[in-house]
Amino acid sequence: MLVEQIIKQTVDLQGFRVHTVTKDPDGLVAGIRSDSRHRVRCGSCGHPAVYRDRREVRFFRHVPLWDIPVWFKYEPRRVSCSRCGGVRTEQLPWVTGKQRFTLAYSCYLAKWAEVVPWYSVAKLFSCAWGTVATAVKSVVNYGMEHRDLSGITHIGIDEILRKKGQVYLTNVYDLRSKTLIWSGVERTKDALRSFLKYFGPERTSKLQGICCDMWKPYVEVLRECAPQATLVFDKFHIVRHLMEAVDQVRRYEIREKGKEHKDLMKDSRYIWLKNPWNLTSKQRTRLCSLERMNLKINRAYLLKERFRDLWSYKTKTWARKHLKQWFWWATHSRLEPLREFAWMV
Ligand SMILES: [Zn+2]
Repeated sequence: MLVEQIIKQTVDLQGFRVHTVTKDPDGLVAGIRSDSRHRVRCGSCGHPAVYRDRREVRFFRHVPLWDIPVWFKYEPRRVSCSRCGGVRTEQLPWVTGKQRFTLAYSCYLAKWAEVVPWYSVAKLFSCAWGTVATAVKSVVNYGMEHRDLSGITHIGIDEILRKKGQVYLTNVYDLRSKTLIWSGVERTKDALRSFLKYFGPERTSKLQGICCDMWKPYVEVLRECAPQATLVFDKFHIVRHLMEAVDQVRRYEIREKGKEHKDLMKDSRYIWLKNPWNLTSKQRTRLCSLERMNLKINRAYLLKERFRDLWSYKTKTWARKHLKQWFWWATHSRLEPLREFAWMV
């Protein structure tokens, strides 16, 4: 198959054709020409427009073939658009906006950026980090513009930390299709309200289940705007709060007992937080010796492990019984962070 044919089959070239493919020190260059059978269109509104003149030659980077860089070479036309009322650059089907790489190349980079860090993608395809970022952004924008919000019944609300813990993002997912449907800055009532505004009252009234963090402001907004939906607090969020409580006990104890205890606790953080079956043999031995010392952190650790049994129950009655008993232990443990956690649950 000729390179021309591969390009024609993989790129939307309506109104254009591949004229020549030449080998050049930078790679393969596909010369593109406009097809006189098609009318030229305005790049801003897509409406047919009147040809004016041509701009200088432009190169658009395309998906490499067998590791050989591929470029599109084209001299875009300028048009007079009656709808926009001015001179614009023509519409080119293989590119969005003023980008210097093809849509197919954007998708290609974005696909790689899903699985490896962006700087590695940039290195792998010898392009700038900014090119990868722009590619991801344009693919995400495309996805956001074309997402289908109909028939969504179960959503998940999650918050993630960005920029080294400086910025919170609130993300909303469709739990059935496992896709992101909305993302907003901050983790506030207002952020959630702007999602609900975007989602619309009709769709909101059809929500059957909402999975989110046990966070009071969220719960309040959801009770008010989607009272029919069942609120689900998932294991991930609950365990995260539990881990935070255990870690707080460790820190408080260090503060309380001073230097000697600090040395004793050195590098022990993950021993208390990890699942026991994931500990290395060295960590297991250390845990055994620490367990004999009647420390607060050890009591917190045991409470954490007992709490997790909750998910092994098959019936509501037994699970409830366990939770009740655990609640009593936690609230009588004299470990403030765990008491708070128990009350939150
Ligand atoms: Zn126009």
